[in-house]
Amino acid sequence: MSDFLIIGQGLAGTIIAKQLLEHGCSIQILDTPEFSASRVASGLMNPVIGKRFTLSPDFLTQKILAEQQYRQVPDAYNSVNVLRYIHTYDEYQRWEKQSQFLIQKNAAHLFSQTPEQFPELYRHTKIPEHVVHIPNAARLHTTAFLEFYRNYFKALGILSEQTFTTNELTLHQDYCTYMGERYSHLIFCDGWRSAYHTLFEYVPTIHAKGEFINIHIPGVNSGDFPVIISNGKYLAHIQNNIFRFGATYVWNFSDTTPGNESVAMLTTELAQLLTCPFTVESALAGVRPVVKDITPVVGQHKQWKHIHTINGLGSKGALLAPLMSKLLVDNILNGIPIPAKYNVARFEQK
Ligand SMILES: Cc1cc2nc3c(=O)[nH]c(=O)nc-3n(C[C@H](O)[C@H](O)[C@H](O)COP(=O)(O)OP(=O)(O)OC[C@H]3O[C@@H](n4cnc5c(N)ncnc54)[C@H](O)[C@@H]3O)c2cc1C
Repeated sequence: MSDFLIIGQGLAGTIIAKQLLEHGCSIQILDTPEFSASRVASGLMNPVIGKRFTLSPDFLTQKILAEQQYRQVPDAYNSVNVLRYIHTYDEYQRWEKQSQFLIQKNAAHLFSQTPEQFPELYRHTKIPEHVVHIPNAARLHTTAFLEFYRNYFKALGILSEQTFTTNELTLHQDYCTYMGERYSHLIFCDGWRSAYHTLFEYVPTIHAKGEFINIHIPGVNSGDFPVIISNGKYLAHIQNNIFRFGATYVWNFSDTTPGNESVAMLTTELAQLLTCPFTVESALAGVRPVVKDITPVVGQHKQWKHIHTINGLGSKGALLAPLMSKLLVDNILNGIPIPAKYNVARFEQK
């Protein structure tokens, strides 16, 4: 018998598995990675986000927790500067209003309006009149992080590459069995694939497909792009002369592959941003797990108290997975209540 069975080794499953091991718990993980959002994510953590330059709540506290997890893997995590290009007058007006609000909220340290320290960018991008510099961002190389722990879990013999199915699950009052093995707790970290079983069907979801393109810019490398450029989407260096641009938000989708229209739209947008020639090398897509109120869900199943979930990390999985995992571990092992804002119990009556 093991203490925990964890379904999924994306960011949520990996971090909670790691934290439970650190507490001396015995665990088993089931994961087939082909549906992983974490493996296609750009891993950005940005304090000022979206069309409206919204301040990501509690960003610095969440980032400290995230750093503690990610810095343990060599070369997986680094601090980055984001330059947000403001192209239209409407956007500029939104920024003017929001920057006043950020100053009132004592968040002025999260941005500056003087990006002149990056003169390289003038050679390769069309720099608009207004640019916001966001110096406190960070980036996780998600595949490096996940592969590191996948190898570690495999070496411990606690990760099986198999698909979880409810046909093999039997629920009892205080424990469950899966394929004949007994577990005290079952934790679902299965991202948007939770839609394929009924255990948490009372949690309303609006998962969002995201697509991006990998491009080749001849003769241009990370030295020419020391920052991540954002025009609402992100342009980031990957390796050598390869960069990534995206991602889209597609709320109604029937497949999980990159759409031709999206690739064409991203290519056109990028051509408006860059002054240098580029070629599209490949396109990738994944599905962000999103809950209807755009807030993660963590906690116990409404009927089965030994069944738990971490889901709905949306477009902020890298920033939020460490906090959500900590909340669930503290709750299960020490009985510390999960804040109502994140608690899956908020959907029990609806
Ligand atoms: C294009 C794109 C770009 C993104 N960019 C960013 C970004 O820049 N910054 C950021 O913070 N976030 C970003 N995200 C969001 C981020 O990827 C997610 O919030 C996060 O990865 C969700 O992690 P998770 O562990 O909950 O789910 P997942 O990563 O989806 O992990 C779930 C795992 O469970 C497995 N699984 C599911 N069902 C089963 C089953 N029945 N049996 C076995 N295994 C199963 C899946 O295959 C997968 O491996 C992006 C997402 C996309 C799609």
